[in-house]
Amino acid sequence: MNTQVLIVGGGLAGLSLARKLQAAGCDWQLVESRDRWGGRILTHTIEGQGYDLGPSWFWPGQPRIDALVDELKLERFDQAYRGDLMYQDETGAVHRGQGMASMQGSWRMLGGFGRLIDVLVAELPAQQLHLNTAVNSLHYNEQQIIVSTSSGFQCQASHVVLALPPRVASHLSFMPALSDQSMQAARNIPTWMAGHAKAVAIYSKAFWETQGLSGDAMSRLGPLAEIHDASPHTGEQAALFGFVGTPASHRRNNEEALKEAIRQQLGQLFGDDGANPTELIIKDWAFDKNTAIDLDAEGLRHHPAYGRPKALKNIWDGHLHFGSTEMGAQFGGFIEGALEVSSDLAQDIIGRLK
Ligand SMILES: Cc1cc2nc3c(=O)[nH]c(=O)nc-3n(C[C@H](O)[C@H](O)[C@H](O)COP(=O)(O)OP(=O)(O)OC[C@H]3O[C@@H](n4cnc5c(N)ncnc54)[C@H](O)[C@@H]3O)c2cc1C
Repeated sequence: MNTQVLIVGGGLAGLSLARKLQAAGCDWQLVESRDRWGGRILTHTIEGQGYDLGPSWFWPGQPRIDALVDELKLERFDQAYRGDLMYQDETGAVHRGQGMASMQGSWRMLGGFGRLIDVLVAELPAQQLHLNTAVNSLHYNEQQIIVSTSSGFQCQASHVVLALPPRVASHLSFMPALSDQSMQAARNIPTWMAGHAKAVAIYSKAFWETQGLSGDAMSRLGPLAEIHDASPHTGEQAALFGFVGTPASHRRNNEEALKEAIRQQLGQLFGDDGANPTELIIKDWAFDKNTAIDLDAEGLRHHPAYGRPKALKNIWDGHLHFGSTEMGAQFGGFIEGALEVSSDLAQDIIGRLK
């Protein structure tokens, strides 16, 4: 198959780039290795209620996601914040009312962020979207890139956008080989949140609210280090979610023990109701090869300064582009960053195709 632009990766960056190219009348195809769209955006649905296992929030001051939510007629709501915070110290002792709900002012997406992905995918021509199609090699020759995939789908394109984490992209085979500087630059960029695991505990009602609690908790003991309300905002079902503080090396092949420790901790923080969720789901991103490589397992303590390094500019005469959120100079790492990068790349590529 021949196309002007092949997009590799059907996360938010890849899908929003496809949307922009479609609007500009360009010819494009999009390949995605997983059997689902969304990448790091992943919403688990139980009885019609959505629970985010990837991103939960967006914030004021992020213009592109703000506009996109309105344009697609999606609905947002405020992260729950009213009530006391619980704090667990390093001995396991629990204290009430320590500080404020840390995510006050953040927005959540009604139905979960998966709604955004569903709406974007529904708008795009299905015959140009290819799931279960992992790219494994790229060959540049005479202004064209020939891309081979695991499914046997082959494509020749003038431009290829690698809308996947640069570290994951560094495992692909490039002919001719990319320079050492480019490969090193790609590996040096940590993938935002790739080393994390998120646990969602689902309950029939938000029992913590009747106790005057916000659902927020901080713990120096773990296994959950930071907990927030994750209720669907429909009045049906309620949930808490937490980031697992246990290092990835201790999480590997240990899910049942981890779940038991989480139930116990939720009991210590919120009482018997807390210890008995109707469901407890863990998504460990550190072991998901479509998001993380071994280097990501350590996790990040701070948000890195992202942006496109010089060594990842103008590759293969400007025909190969890195295009995940990590390339975003202003909002890199965030959902807004994925939109920042796809918007800049769309402009660049449309300009080059003219
Ligand atoms: C637990 C967690 C919590 C987060 N919380 C927030 C938050 O609250 N707010 C916020 O703004 N951001 C948050 N983020 C970050 C946010 O999810 C990302 O910024 C955004 O989703 C990145 O989108 P992307 O399209 O750039 O990359 P990705 O979503 O990683 O998409 C890359 C795609 O490429 C695919 N792919 C990989 N290899 C191949 C291959 N060989 N061939 C074809 N396809 C391939 C992958 O399967 C994937 O679908 C969080 C992330 C995680 C994991």
